[in-house]
Amino acid sequence: KAAPLGSSVIPIVNKLQDIFAQLGSQSSIELPQVAVVGSQSSGKSSVLEALVGRDFLPRGNDICTRRPLVLQLLQTKSKSNGGSDDEWGEFLHLPNNRIYDFSEIRREIEAETNRLVGENKGVSDKQIRLKIFSPNVLDITLVDLPGITKVPVGDQPTDIEARIRTMILSYIKQPSCLILAVTPANSDLANSDALQIAGNADPDGHRTIGVITKLDIMDRGTDARNLLLGKVVPLRLGYVGVVNRCQEDILLNRSVKEALSAEEKFFRSRPAYHGLADRLGIPQLAKKLNQILVQHIKVLLPDLKSRISNALVATAKEHQSYGEITESTAGQGALLLNFLSKYCEAYSSLLDGKSEEMSTS
Ligand code: GDP
Ligand code: MG
Repeated sequence: KAAPLGSSVIPIVNKLQDIFAQLGSQSSIELPQVAVVGSQSSGKSSVLEALVGRDFLPRGNDICTRRPLVLQLLQTKSKSNGGSDDEWGEFLHLPNNRIYDFSEIRREIEAETNRLVGENKGVSDKQIRLKIFSPNVLDITLVDLPGITKVPVGDQPTDIEARIRTMILSYIKQPSCLILAVTPANSDLANSDALQIAGNADPDGHRTIGVITKLDIMDRGTDARNLLLGKVVPLRLGYVGVVNRCQEDILLNRSVKEALSAEEKFFRSRPAYHGLADRLGIPQLAKKLNQILVQHIKVLLPDLKSRISNALVATAKEHQSYGEITESTAGQGALLLNFLSKYCEAYSSLLDGKSEEMSTS
């Protein structure tokens, strides 16, 4: 029932990729990266995992993410499309090694972290690169980053906080990076490391989504309603509140699926959250991201259109240079491009329609 990240964008992106391919163009649609930022144990890895819909990231109430994990999702052909429904991971450091067991992927992330920075809480800015192949994903890159910590522990250098901040900024200062700023509901939003660092990188808030985690473990008698409504710290793109799995759920191996239905049940049972459905839950977060991706694609359309019309002009010229031969391949090419152009128009208006529908939600 949960819409996985990108699901509503997949068909549009696929069609556009087809158009690019028919134009003989090298370039394809480049979607923005999505990175999670926040303090340690705020729930960043949990949020990413829930968005992907599979269990494979190290999570816990200690420093788990100690190197940036660049997670490239790659769409494969599904069984109904002549491919297979297999999903697997492949690490850059283990080429040609398909890992079908996602808990093995998690173990390898942990092992590869330890290989470089030891077992004693060391942190490094050296990336681990993992590709996930699946028919159910959009071609998009997600980045899981170490959380901000203040006090050095284990093998961490005394300037650990500054080092982690520099590392995070190197990702989120890129103008194409979408930022999920993760703050737990049981901490003070006005002191949020996530909002602070996101604000540094994206002062206008055009690409920062606020994510409030741990709504289930707030102090009794309090709720996050005002936070989610942006009444505490306003944020241009707003907030989504989520409930991820707690440590006990992790130890009991509760699945993402179970977690999503528990989350839904939680929100339904709390009157404080009634009427806020568009700001609650992982599926809503995925939807919000999808809307931003659609906006991004819309921005790319004018360029695509002008490239098609340039190609049309060039083909018409070529056609003229052939004189009166009408049954030429060039003529057929022009016909094809004309068709593509119309197709593109249609798609563009489809996107317009889509965004209108979304802005009213
Ligand atoms: P990260 O360090 O920011 O990547 O945080 P993790 O995703 O590793 O989560 C840290 C700890 O908080 C883990 O034990 C999670 O089970 C727990 N946790 C994360 N989100 C939630 C939540 O929404 N509710 C509860 N109860 N626990 C959560
Ligand atoms: Mg983490």
